Amino acid sequence: MELDLLLHGGRIADGTGAPLRAADVGVRGGTISVLPPGATIPDAAGVALDVSGLVIAPGFVDAHTHSDTTALGGVGQAAADAAAVQGVSVEICGNCGTSAFPAASGGPGARDFPDFPDFAAFADAHRAAGRSNHIASLVGHGTLRAAVVGRAARPATGAEIDTMRGLLGDALDAGAVGLSTGLIYTPGCYADTAEITALAEVCAEHGKPYVTHLRDEMSRVEAALAEAVEIADRSGAALHVSHHKTAGKYAWGGTERTLSLLDALRSTGMDVTCDVYPYTAGSTALSAMLPPWAHDGGTARLLERLGDPTERERMRVAIEQGVPGWENTVGNGGWDRISVAGASQHPELIGETVAAAADAQGLDPLELVAQLLIAERGDVTIISHSMREDDVRRVLTAPFTMIGSDGVPRPGLPHPRWAGTFARILGHYVRDLDLLSIPEAVRKMTGACAQRFRLAGRGLIADGAHADLVVFDPELVIDRATFAEPLLPPLGVRLVLVDGHIVARDGVATGTRPGRVLTE
Ligand SMILES: [Zn+2]
Repeated sequence: MELDLLLHGGRIADGTGAPLRAADVGVRGGTISVLPPGATIPDAAGVALDVSGLVIAPGFVDAHTHSDTTALGGVGQAAADAAAVQGVSVEICGNCGTSAFPAASGGPGARDFPDFPDFAAFADAHRAAGRSNHIASLVGHGTLRAAVVGRAARPATGAEIDTMRGLLGDALDAGAVGLSTGLIYTPGCYADTAEITALAEVCAEHGKPYVTHLRDEMSRVEAALAEAVEIADRSGAALHVSHHKTAGKYAWGGTERTLSLLDALRSTGMDVTCDVYPYTAGSTALSAMLPPWAHDGGTARLLERLGDPTERERMRVAIEQGVPGWENTVGNGGWDRISVAGASQHPELIGETVAAAADAQGLDPLELVAQLLIAERGDVTIISHSMREDDVRRVLTAPFTMIGSDGVPRPGLPHPRWAGTFARILGHYVRDLDLLSIPEAVRKMTGACAQRFRLAGRGLIADGAHADLVVFDPELVIDRATFAEPLLPPLGVRLVLVDGHIVARDGVATGTRPGRVLTE
């Protein structure tokens, strides 16, 4: 048999959750054949690799990233390749309401990373830049809304909703894999349940999921989940809950109830799933710590308000007392749980908590935040230490949970989940804690995600499937990325293939770029 590559002597975790079994895997022309162990020797043109003692899995599908434009420059090659190096062959981007398309040309939709008028332009840009692995994108509701409604804090009109439905339908036809919302972020948070339901109906027509960063993941997480369920129920779309968590001291332990609810809904036949990252800290924009009204009109208006002592005082009171319908991370935790992750003009603050940095300068924390955001033109990322380990483990082990890094590859010290998530699951949670078996963990990283986002021929090791493969050492695999060194590659991920091309070996990208924007 003519093969480009034969991986022999290993065991496969095929992505379905089936037990590990001995098998050889042949690769030819970008597709796989599964062979009985020891049966085949490739001809002289092929390469045979002995993978004895190692596990061969489908390439990981990262169910949740913010890497939409990472491969297009600006953060460096190490960050761009960090996912592929840990075994990710497909990144699902466009999450939390923000995608790189469709943008209003220079209008109210102008944002802080490159925008493209439509899905095709987004795909063209990735083709021109080249990528190690594949990427598939959701349509971000916030992006859609910014393009059509602008950044004002008001409901969308019927005509605007129709325009958004049309743009969404076009993107789903072109290859986008679903709709995402980010209902703690502006302008997405200005939408009511009916607006989102009207958009989710378009997903239902296309057989694609409604994916949501809930309106609240803290003290009001259960009400926020009920809204998501209502949207799915009324629209008929499948529901996928992003980075599921019950964060902040008032919600700790709440995953017992939220997961029971999801389980009960599934037993009635509802198609609902979620994803999770294996860390107790989250990461987002510093500006998201401020109440929604402060953002009305966009970033320029936010910075104006931050410069006004009266408005700052209103913000301080809002954080202290809460605002109905607003998540209020700081009110649920405190500035001592928020550390600066990215602030290009303030390297000295990176890694510091807001509370400590304010204290050192003799400032009220909100004064420091205002000065920082004004100096950085609103562009500051943070790490928020907001979750409890028992909640993370409970979500990880739920059978309908898949793995998503929620990686935010930005300059500065981004959250280590971008470069560490998958190796951390396999090393820490599977091997060291025995929380999941290898086949079950691999299913959560591959087959389950490929099915959720309808990626044909991916996420499985089966005859004729695309040759997206990871070979890892189950005894050695571990993440090394930390909050101090967030891009350190993992150990024990020996080989990563995308469509039959070797894109990484032992933590180093090979520079081969077979990746593209997937349309199916
Ligand atoms: Zn999110």
